[in-house]
Amino acid sequence: MSLLVVGSVAYDNIKTPIEHRENILGGSATFAAYAASFFAPVQIVGVVGEDWLPEHTKCFRDHGIDTEGLEIEKGGKTFRWSGKYLDNMNDRETLDTQLNVLGNFKPKLPESCRQTKYIFLGNGAPSTGLEALNQIHGADLVVADTMDLWINIARDDLDKLLQRIDGLVLNDSEAKQLTGEINTLSAGRKILENGLKFVVVKKGEHGAFFLSRDKIYVVPAFPTENVVDPTGAGDSFAGAMFAYIAAQNGQLDETTIKNALVYGTLIASFCVEGFSLERLQKINSAEIETRLSQFRQIISF
Ligand code: AMP
Repeated sequence: MSLLVVGSVAYDNIKTPIEHRENILGGSATFAAYAASFFAPVQIVGVVGEDWLPEHTKCFRDHGIDTEGLEIEKGGKTFRWSGKYLDNMNDRETLDTQLNVLGNFKPKLPESCRQTKYIFLGNGAPSTGLEALNQIHGADLVVADTMDLWINIARDDLDKLLQRIDGLVLNDSEAKQLTGEINTLSAGRKILENGLKFVVVKKGEHGAFFLSRDKIYVVPAFPTENVVDPTGAGDSFAGAMFAYIAAQNGQLDETTIKNALVYGTLIASFCVEGFSLERLQKINSAEIETRLSQFRQIISF
């Protein structure tokens, strides 16, 4: 079953303590869709400007991603985000956000996207997610990601979105910010009170946990020494995780959730080993399976 991914498609400027890269392909939908396409057919919905390079559409298509829902806005400029990583390569500062075409983006979903049963709303304005959901006929599973910016500036829309989704994915600091709780688990429980089936809390290099009313599953991050650029780790984790679940027809049993958490973790560990999609473009299922056996050894006891 396919996964519809809605979110930002961006050109990023990234500074790490070691290297500085400008105008590289980024965005929440970019990372989520690319990661997802290792596990299920994917449709991407987003908007870019006239500065968009056709080679980037090709990069999606070459990985089997359906780009019919990727709108190119005439006269517009693609969303741009600049970020700088601190020496620990985990924490980062946003240096600049230029919403450009993303600012008043109202997605118009092609008919082929409106029947999709599994939806991932990557990080972006909650109003965009709501607009997309209004055009979808009866989804089976809707999951959204969010971030501090939207918690700060679009709280009303975010609250409305929380009423329309089955699951939320967010960072530990964002879970605390959203709920006012100081403990991450309590924050997760409070988010569930919105009527969600589950929350997935990401903790960067410390892994992630899945929380539902009566279950909690924890997964550590895959230990990698070769962290080149952590951008997109969260998006690729979520994209891979929910594509895996979509491929299992949306089942939310223990085995499916645990496998999905593990595959999300593995894809994120590849993502951080390069800028943009550079590392993900080089892997194949054999490499993913090799890392899976290493991870199995590391975490079993
Ligand atoms: P992650 O590292 O998983 O949090 O994702 C980073 C990606 O999110 C970058 O490629 C950015 O282009 C994109 N991004 C940053 N800020 C925003 C925002 N406010 N809305 C949507 N996407 C964003």
